[in-house]
Amino acid sequence: MTAPFVPPLAGTAIPALSRLDGYVLSHTFDRPTLLIDVNRVEAQYRALSAGLGRARIHYAVKANPAREIIARLVDIGSAFDAASKGEINLCLQEGARPEDISFGNTIKRARDIAWAYEEGIRLFAADSAEEIAKIAENAPGAKVYIRLLVTTSQADWPLSRKFGCDHEMALALLAQARNLGLQPVGFSFHVGSQTRHAEMWGATLDAIAQTWEAAKALGFDLSLLNIGGGFPAFYGQEIDAPTAYAEKVMAQVTARFGDVPVVMAEPGRGLVAEAGVIVSEVMLVSRKSERDLHRWVYLNIGRFSGLAETEGEAIRYQLVTPRDADKVGPCIVAGPTCDSADVLYEKQMMSLPLSLRAGDQVLIRNCGAYTSTYSSVWFNGFEPLDVVVI
Ligand SMILES: *Cc1c(COP(=O)(O)O)cnc(C)c1O
Repeated sequence: MTAPFVPPLAGTAIPALSRLDGYVLSHTFDRPTLLIDVNRVEAQYRALSAGLGRARIHYAVKANPAREIIARLVDIGSAFDAASKGEINLCLQEGARPEDISFGNTIKRARDIAWAYEEGIRLFAADSAEEIAKIAENAPGAKVYIRLLVTTSQADWPLSRKFGCDHEMALALLAQARNLGLQPVGFSFHVGSQTRHAEMWGATLDAIAQTWEAAKALGFDLSLLNIGGGFPAFYGQEIDAPTAYAEKVMAQVTARFGDVPVVMAEPGRGLVAEAGVIVSEVMLVSRKSERDLHRWVYLNIGRFSGLAETEGEAIRYQLVTPRDADKVGPCIVAGPTCDSADVLYEKQMMSLPLSLRAGDQVLIRNCGAYTSTYSSVWFNGFEPLDVVVI
């Protein structure tokens, strides 16, 4: 017998997601399904905006590109950070104005830059000389901001190394952009995704401010600071509420940068993670020997079907089962595919009910960010993660 889902008790650390819970209770699910409450996205947008003040939100589309999310954010006045032609197209189709979309990936195809420029996009990111040259050629006169390398990240999911350039190169790129007829307007950075506390921004902001001051001393008339993402979601460890977090970040920005005319913020995770829950199912509970002290719990979703951020066990999702009132024991949690890397939590095992068994429904909380698009297409013949927006 499959045990029915029982919503978590009031007063537990897991925030009640009543619209989502209601939907779960009244539907059956044939495959792993991400449910998104788009009202929750709106509430989160308003909460972050309230704290960000003059900084404008450019939603990082990659966190969750569901059409209904983009459409709702367009309705309530959000701008967008897009990484590709596809993401720009999506935003335009859902009614975003080109002037509210930045092409924020530092790795762009020349023909996509030209296409975006045709569509009216005028704001581009770069962190290399080759990219500046591509932008100058394909988007003449456009505004560019230089992405700075962050070496001080304290995030759970750092983005360091791959993106940004150092202080000297950043100054050289501003000059190159100006010489090629572009408008070098400022800098961007990313503190690292899931930076749990606003205080963790301080060292990064100090470093960015040094480059900012140096550029001004060289005569660059900077008008734009893009503070990127990093706004956290609740995965079980304490975080500040969104408004308080954003206020604290902006207080630190103002202390170092004064009243920069344009401040952009690019929350992804912080806007959508808590608006989503994945409905999954236990496929098997087993042990490797009679003496094994822990059990293996195999779900119908894994590293290759949406839970890519369990890589290195960096993001620890909260699981809710219908048997959470029963006695618990340590479990290794794994996905269903025939790839041995498809293990979610092993180094740090999860406490799950001993009574858990195949067929039980498992809810994975706060899964609205970086899941649906990380789902492989047909690995081992498993259906990709379904997405339902309510
Ligand atoms: C992914 C990304 C973001 C969003 O980051 P979160 O940590 O999810 O808020 C913002 N800006 C850029 C340039 C990104 O690549």
